[in-house]
Amino acid sequence: MITIYSSKHSLRNSKTELYGGELVRPFERPERMNYILDEIKNQKLGEIKNPKEIDFGIINKIHDEDYINFLNVAWNEWIEEGFKGEAIPNIWPSRSMDSKIIPNFIEGKLGYYSLAGETSISEGSIEAAYESVKVVITASEMLQNNNILNIFSLCRPPGHHASQNQFGGYCFFNNVAIAAEHFKTKGAKKIFILDVDFHHGNGTQSIFYDRSDVFYASLHGDPMYAFPYFLGHADEEGIGTGQGYNKNYPMLPGTTYDIWSEALDDSIKKISTFNPEILIISLGVDAYENDPISFFKLKSEDFIDLGKRLSKLKIPTLFVMEGGYAIKDIGVNTVNTLKGFENR
Ligand SMILES: [Zn+2]
Repeated sequence: MITIYSSKHSLRNSKTELYGGELVRPFERPERMNYILDEIKNQKLGEIKNPKEIDFGIINKIHDEDYINFLNVAWNEWIEEGFKGEAIPNIWPSRSMDSKIIPNFIEGKLGYYSLAGETSISEGSIEAAYESVKVVITASEMLQNNNILNIFSLCRPPGHHASQNQFGGYCFFNNVAIAAEHFKTKGAKKIFILDVDFHHGNGTQSIFYDRSDVFYASLHGDPMYAFPYFLGHADEEGIGTGQGYNKNYPMLPGTTYDIWSEALDDSIKKISTFNPEILIISLGVDAYENDPISFFKLKSEDFIDLGKRLSKLKIPTLFVMEGGYAIKDIGVNTVNTLKGFENR
């Protein structure tokens, strides 16, 4: 399997995450990629290629123009105000002051355009987010043009928490949503996005919630107990023409592969029935038992089985990297999934 990867992801090297009442080094850090690259080489998964130049206009098909403009200037505006730390949102248009008016001052704008407070914007973060889009679009084009059955888009930063107009959960641009839109512009009628990251992909769900051409299904930690807390319940099934094209499988703390794989099999039936031209996997490996910020109990060998089960569908498949924070094991768990898919 070919991997598309850009070393420019390391431009995203934020120093602070608000976690447990402390400012800690972010769980989502550049070294994650090194462990994955090493394992791709160790296990001889296949060639690693650089992304090519792309037309970033595709981002406008998913994200609002004012949101993109905000990301482009946020860091500069923050430092121009003389703030010493990284740009961390700390106030939101919440239930009791649900204003649609966008403030002028950067602190207010950060709250308006974010969904959570753990993700700081630092110098280079948004450049890296653009690079991540380049990676996923290059991979998408290769999958469609080269008549291959699978490809791995080693994206960083991840994307599935980013909505049309909000960042958070370490995500700025929604890579899988942009890829789905790319396939649509190239003539695909139906795309299925299966999200196996431990966290619910609230951004991807909200982007496609009223659409029947992109089916979104997610296996994740029950939002009663897990980030992003305010989306991802089982009764969220889509709206309008999108009714019936959204499927959530929230699962409880301590969930093992026995339970998890039952949800996986159900989602595979849904993929079969929907019969998409392209399958996109939001591949987070934080369902792993030793992940520091998650509560499922999948073992490394379970990821091989995950890949095997997906491969039986025989649908052209784009794997897109999302989360996974048990850093030393992230490479094995990721490559296990991909090797399983190739039945190796
Ligand atoms: Zn995650």
